[in-house]
Amino acid sequence: MHFNPRYASLDSKLYHQQQPTPLRGAKAGHFNESLADELQWSEEDKANWVEICSGQKTFSEFTPLAMVYAGHQFGQWAGQLGDGRGLLIGQILNQQGQTIDLHLKGAGATPYSRMGDGRAVLRSVIREYLAGHALNALGIASSHAVGFTTSTQGVQRETLELGAMLLRTSECHIRFGHFEWINQYAPELLPEFTQKCIEWHYPECLNAEQPILAFAQAVIDRTALMIAQWQLVGFAHGVMNTDNLNITGSTLDFGPYGFLERFRPNWINNHSDYQGRYTYQNQPSIGHWNLWKWLNTLIPLAKPEDKEQFKHDLAQCLEQYEPTFLQYYGQGLCKKMGLPNFHKDSLDCSFAFLGILQSEQLDYTQSFIRLQQHEYKALRDDCIDVQQFDNFLTRYQNIRQHQDTDELDLAMQQANPHYILRNHMAQKAIELAERGDFSEVERLFQLLNQPYQKQPDLETEQDIAPLPSDVPEVVVSCSS
Ligand code: AMP
Ligand code: MG
Repeated sequence: MHFNPRYASLDSKLYHQQQPTPLRGAKAGHFNESLADELQWSEEDKANWVEICSGQKTFSEFTPLAMVYAGHQFGQWAGQLGDGRGLLIGQILNQQGQTIDLHLKGAGATPYSRMGDGRAVLRSVIREYLAGHALNALGIASSHAVGFTTSTQGVQRETLELGAMLLRTSECHIRFGHFEWINQYAPELLPEFTQKCIEWHYPECLNAEQPILAFAQAVIDRTALMIAQWQLVGFAHGVMNTDNLNITGSTLDFGPYGFLERFRPNWINNHSDYQGRYTYQNQPSIGHWNLWKWLNTLIPLAKPEDKEQFKHDLAQCLEQYEPTFLQYYGQGLCKKMGLPNFHKDSLDCSFAFLGILQSEQLDYTQSFIRLQQHEYKALRDDCIDVQQFDNFLTRYQNIRQHQDTDELDLAMQQANPHYILRNHMAQKAIELAERGDFSEVERLFQLLNQPYQKQPDLETEQDIAPLPSDVPEVVVSCSS
């Protein structure tokens, strides 16, 4: 590994240095060797992956640290938060020379643990491991993970579960909530911290006439892109608190997420989300809300005499969020549909299709695959209101009639995954892993590695179908 320990160059108020606290009886869970290769792990590092991913081995080049941050959780100011169960154990260079954080989750209590035990359970570690892998393979910015370990140590949640650790990777662990913490508790750090964020993550903005505004614009753009991509694959994050979105337009912390199966935009996948704040259909507007909270923390960067103008400029940046989101989403939706983006009826026709998926409660992922494979009869057979379907199909075929359909079909193949991580798939892998069998984690890891390719040898019937309506859903909550 090649280290670039830059976070420790920040003011020491922003972190607390400490070593991980290993779990008893640590053992292998799953290792992502190709990611380790991308991160330039040596053969020796790879041979030691269990020790590294269980906090038993740390590096002399980097002193592990917990970061402090704050945040709004479920719309309420939550005050100081921080890495209460995770430690940054390295910042290393990948093959492209980009600095990547290694963050060990479940590594024991820190000064930011509040009432928590500093641990993570195997169930939630597997969910986070597979979600990061699935999103990355779908081409969506997300944290990733090199591997995870399990243990023989019990960790109390609703029941006693197995303690585990995840070695998460991300190009950035600076959350919107970092700025909220500085704003509230150490405003004197804001200028330098902002400057570092720009240098590290948006160096192209340094040359702009107004680097801070360029930075704000870039964060807004990337956040809009990520959320548009979530909407397109049917991903509901479940806990879009400001401490779970980072400033590079990516997310951290996957717990009670869900990929939509039957198309129910108002489905509440997170059972801790009593009001449905973070449903799939709310994600675009929650992205706006979170950005608004974040932009407010930048206001003190202006000199007093420039403050009003600066606020006005930031508001103008935020106004771009909605059109930017709609542009990414609209383009992506047309691609999924196999319709030309420039045609004036394409979007209307796409929404008609989504309307059918919603009213007929069809599987979001498989319906797009059927459309892509021109299996119109199969789609029609699943509809109760066939007239509605026929009207759609006529319109759809009319638009495609005078187009280069080979090109459109190719675009569809690149936009429509065969496989998403359905909650019941993750659940099966978890139940086996809790009994010491990681074969299902491995199978899902391989399957989700190439979601846009049909893999008949690897898939099972349950991977491509929603649970029958009479089977109870897997319940996921913030408990992790
Ligand atoms: P999360 O729900 O994982 O995004 O966590 C929200 C906040 O609670 C973060 O500051 C976490 O570090 C903290 N936290 C969550 N679970 C625990 C735990 N078991 N022990 C200590 N801190 C925790
Ligand atoms: Mg979090």
